[in-house]
Amino acid sequence: MKITEHIDNAKGKTLFSFELLPPMKGQSMEGIYKAIDPLMEFNPPFIDVTSSREDLFYSETPDGNIKKATYRKRPGTVAVCAAIKHKYRVDTVPHLICGGFTKEETEYALIDLQFLGIDNVLVLRGDARKADPGFIPTPGGHCYATDLLEQVTNMNNGIYLHEYQDSSYKTDFCIGVAAYPEKHFEAPNLKTDFKYLKQKVDNGANFIVTQMFFDNSKYKAFVNLCRENGINVPIIPGLKPITTAKQLVNLPKIFHIDIPEDLSDAIHACKNDKDVKEVGIEWMINQCKELVKFGVPVLHFYTMGNPEPTKRIARAIF
Ligand code: FAD
Repeated sequence: MKITEHIDNAKGKTLFSFELLPPMKGQSMEGIYKAIDPLMEFNPPFIDVTSSREDLFYSETPDGNIKKATYRKRPGTVAVCAAIKHKYRVDTVPHLICGGFTKEETEYALIDLQFLGIDNVLVLRGDARKADPGFIPTPGGHCYATDLLEQVTNMNNGIYLHEYQDSSYKTDFCIGVAAYPEKHFEAPNLKTDFKYLKQKVDNGANFIVTQMFFDNSKYKAFVNLCRENGINVPIIPGLKPITTAKQLVNLPKIFHIDIPEDLSDAIHACKNDKDVKEVGIEWMINQCKELVKFGVPVLHFYTMGNPEPTKRIARAIF
């Protein structure tokens, strides 16, 4: 079922969902199931699975040489989605990214998803490779999420990459895109970033999932801006509780978000990470309660493979 249908069927009740990373190359699905099992009691209508680009890795060979290799650390997004859908009878949302994939590879992935009965995709540009100064498109791939979105909407209209194919069959993907209540870090300002978000929605995006945030007023202002400018699709807030003191530095560094002073002060006052986790969970529970009152369609958690803090928050809310 489409995300938009799940939201419509909920008739204003806030839903619970979460995001997972595929297992590291060489690991099994068991870790994924362990991350899902504790959260199934909250009846998530859908689970997101991230996608990652190839990266550059160096390793030392037994003779002391340094070996350079390029590979994807967490492959298997489509297969992980299929396995979760099959085991839990829940919808899955594979993330599709521009980086690391040619348009042909993306088309094949979309055909696989359609055959698997997966109805939703979240289309993204994807992160830059760690070794690169910024995002470098893959030759034969897409530059921006808008371009990838166009490929998916084309397939929804029966337009495939090559004319010689029989393109009478139309896919019917429900398409999500990312948004940043505190601005995407490369955008010169919120207005420019917003222009491209609007373009994504005008060109066929059916729902939006936001970057994590710790200050609800930023999310609310962002939603209001969207509504004032004719963006009427559901805007799903992305949420992550802080669980270690290190994250006070890492989250702003990696995700380009602000941590409110009250939260950072409370974390600085903690003696250890056990206390930090309690502060982070408490903060997130309060944030979620307020978001539910605000009428958010879904509370969507970035679990990063650790279900326990999310479970405690969900218990307090649902
Ligand atoms: P875009 O919408 O393409 O925007 C990127 C930048 O370019 C922005 O600054 C925007 O303002 C600008 N821009 C957009 N369109 C144009 C245009 N046509 N011309 C000029 N400028 C333009 N990363 C992963 O690698 N894997 C994942 O699974 C993943 N999941 C995510 C899930 C969510 C909910 C979010 C919020 C992010 C996720 N990311 C993931 C990170 C994301 O890929 C990065 O933030 C990336 O830098 C931007 O992706 P985007 O889709 O927002 O890009």
